[in-house]
Amino acid sequence: MFNYQTITAYHQQLRLGETTCRDVVQFYVEKIEANNKLNAFVQVYKDEAFLKAEDLDNKRKSGCALKKLHGVVIAIKDVICYKGHSITAASAILKDYIPLYNATAVQLLLDEDAIIIGTCNCDEFAMGSTNEHSVYGKVLNGISNNHVPGGSSGGSAVAVQMDMCMLSLGSDTGGSVRQPADFCGVIGFKPGYGAISRYGLIAYASSFDQIGIFGKNIPDVGLLLEVMSAPDEFDSTMNISLPPVLFIKNNTSDEKTRFCYFTEMMDHPSLDKEIAQALFQTFEELKKAGHAVEPVDLKLVDYIVPAYYVLTTAEASSNLARYDGVRYGHRTQQALKDLTTFYLQNRSEGFGTEVKKRIMLGTFVLSTGYYDAYFNKALQVRKMLVEHMAMVFNKFDVLILPNSPSTAFRIGDNDKDPIAVYLADIFTVFANLTGTPAISLPLYKHSNGLPFGIQLMTNRGDELTLLQISDELMKNSHHPDPVK
Ligand code: GLN
Repeated sequence: MFNYQTITAYHQQLRLGETTCRDVVQFYVEKIEANNKLNAFVQVYKDEAFLKAEDLDNKRKSGCALKKLHGVVIAIKDVICYKGHSITAASAILKDYIPLYNATAVQLLLDEDAIIIGTCNCDEFAMGSTNEHSVYGKVLNGISNNHVPGGSSGGSAVAVQMDMCMLSLGSDTGGSVRQPADFCGVIGFKPGYGAISRYGLIAYASSFDQIGIFGKNIPDVGLLLEVMSAPDEFDSTMNISLPPVLFIKNNTSDEKTRFCYFTEMMDHPSLDKEIAQALFQTFEELKKAGHAVEPVDLKLVDYIVPAYYVLTTAEASSNLARYDGVRYGHRTQQALKDLTTFYLQNRSEGFGTEVKKRIMLGTFVLSTGYYDAYFNKALQVRKMLVEHMAMVFNKFDVLILPNSPSTAFRIGDNDKDPIAVYLADIFTVFANLTGTPAISLPLYKHSNGLPFGIQLMTNRGDELTLLQISDELMKNSHHPDPVK
């Protein structure tokens, strides 16, 4: 039976004739069908994937060289446009919406002969931390079906966790790739702001959103980044100073790394003691290997989550204004007397509760009278955090953080206390406020049986160091495959 390790090993198997793209697609389609109850996929492009696989098999037989992602089976979150395929942001308001163009990231994958196997379930408009807010229903964690996979890219995380694809794309506005990766025991990588074009990514909060990658090994994740980080004239916020080639080579230098951590985060009262302990243990191991690991202050810790929710809801209220039932989105069947009532009805029927809550909050913080008190204050916090990060990365190479205060929540546990769920974003939103690259690595298993990870961050534009250090940590860890 097909056994996936890395893209390089897979390509070798193809060259030696040990497998074919068709067999591989068959393998993943069977996995998707077997895991149907987890509800990770919204659409599966089975016939199309077989056709593409056969085409690639023929190309190879006729002697064509393999492109970088030849036959690599990838799933995408239901917020990333794939031309001619329905994309809905897991919302009733975008039901039956078919994009007319490919997101740049998707186009770049296709140009390298990747096979898009389907779209993955998520929280509506990528707003959430549990994948319980989707018009398609909740996604279950494959390790324990009583637990959430995390969110908002829960479907993409479970797709990789349960081997329903080789890699998947998510989006990360405040942790939606790293936190589900943490809860599911896979790698979740959010590149720095501007590393991958946002063109064709359905916007939640544009100055925070980034497409991110789920995978099981660092070289694959690095290769996907290399392919998707090509400059794009359709996204003026792209960081063009990013080195074009990021592929992870074997790090042969024995240069020591300067790690640091925020005392206020590692000592945070919400952080599970066992998670803190595991991270401190890793600090000791790093020190033994000759690296420096030092504490740093973060006085602004209590302002991180409020600043994030003020700014992202403000941006969301503006971004989601386009779904009015005229330009985009669901249109009511009711006959209404005026335009305002018509808009109101379209939006009331189309959006779910969480999205409505955030639109209202965002409109409130932007309104005259509250703008200075909330929106401007949050912008000031963001600026101070960016300045603080510049200072930190002047002295250190890598910042270490937890991903989430706890392991995966039980399904339904947070219904009564939505603020508690917002507060649990404390360790992930920081990277989006500051635009830095960040990754979650599945290094640990809790005594409750659930996986959890470590989060690493580097300076903006330094994805290479982040991935290189991650590769070392993954290789040196005795991390168990959480699914087996
Ligand atoms: N949990 C965060 C939120 O609900 C993260 C969302 C995201 O990254 N898309 O805003």
